[in-house]
Amino acid sequence: MPALSLENVSHRFGKLAAVNDVSLSIEAGEFICLLGPSGCGKTTILRLAAGLEPLQGGIVRMGGTVVADRSVETPPEERSVGLVFQDYALFPHLNVEKNIAFGLSHLSRGERKSRVLETLQQVGMADYIEAYPHTLSGGQQQRVALARAIAPRPKLVLLDEPFSGLDVRLRNQIRDETVRVLKENGTATLMVTHDPEEAMFMADRIAIMREGKIIQLATPSELYTKPADPFVAHFFGDLNEFDGVCDNGQVATPFGPLNTPSVPHGSPVNILIRHEGVLLGEKVNGTGVEASVLKSRMLGRTSLVDFKIPNGLSNDLHVKARLESAVIPEAGKKIVLELDQRLAFVFSALPIE
Ligand code: ATP
Repeated sequence: MPALSLENVSHRFGKLAAVNDVSLSIEAGEFICLLGPSGCGKTTILRLAAGLEPLQGGIVRMGGTVVADRSVETPPEERSVGLVFQDYALFPHLNVEKNIAFGLSHLSRGERKSRVLETLQQVGMADYIEAYPHTLSGGQQQRVALARAIAPRPKLVLLDEPFSGLDVRLRNQIRDETVRVLKENGTATLMVTHDPEEAMFMADRIAIMREGKIIQLATPSELYTKPADPFVAHFFGDLNEFDGVCDNGQVATPFGPLNTPSVPHGSPVNILIRHEGVLLGEKVNGTGVEASVLKSRMLGRTSLVDFKIPNGLSNDLHVKARLESAVIPEAGKKIVLELDQRLAFVFSALPIE
């Protein structure tokens, strides 16, 4: 049984369809991120799952049991859900122990004490049991907030942009720790973020959202190499963009023809090629194309190089390549380029009916 399943869930604020026919299920121990631009409905989905927003359409189940539909609306405190929301700050007048014990009133005093300690040990904060929130750093407060959410051993944890206030250097460490703790407990997690790198770093699967709908739900590597549409493709890195026309299952690109069996003959297409999909090559088997360097920029671990590919006409094609920074070719240099076909995508440019 999934820890959480949303079935055809919809929610309107007045005329605005904030969540539009969303279905999603999360297994125990699975970590799913909702990723999308501001206002696409991510937080509303979390609030519907938690029971903080009355359900208007669809069904919400937890562990197979209906917690919300047309006739049932289980209140938030009766759902086994832990929350770490930006606006759910720690109680400033309670110390760390009391903050965490707050949600454990169903346990005996002794059990409560040992659960608080055990949970603080899990998040590496046992030494701060007596501390008050204002004496803790942002990262420490975030760990305590996570401890407070998981101490009652909920089946589901909902995280809403939990790391957005943290120092960049701290973030990867606390992201790793958060995933480890939730996996150790076998907790299902749904996290909202608008940071694609954060979603890829943490999630088993990512749901890409736009205007209240899930556009694609897949693993980070599937989203990167098999985006469902240009919107998804653009989320995970910079792209070279070209127009083309499908000709009997193939489309011409600066690097030679690409197969496009699913696009009808004669249809206009968008060709998207990741910057890191343009590789330095050798002219073997006639696959490479000769290009000349326009400009190179050293960006630390990588370099970004602009190339011009002559096509015999006045309108030369321009492509950008993300290369190892050991390679910073000078302007004017001629180089053979190849394409990593896994990082080239062709989409029909016809409007969706
Ligand atoms: P963000 O990344 O900015 O937090 P989000 O993807 O989480 O955005 P939601 O907060 O779910 O988006 O909001 C979805 C849409 O619903 C937005 O257009 C928002 O303005 C609107 N909305 C959210 N809550 C309310 C409310 N209580 N009353 C009216 N409109 C609301």
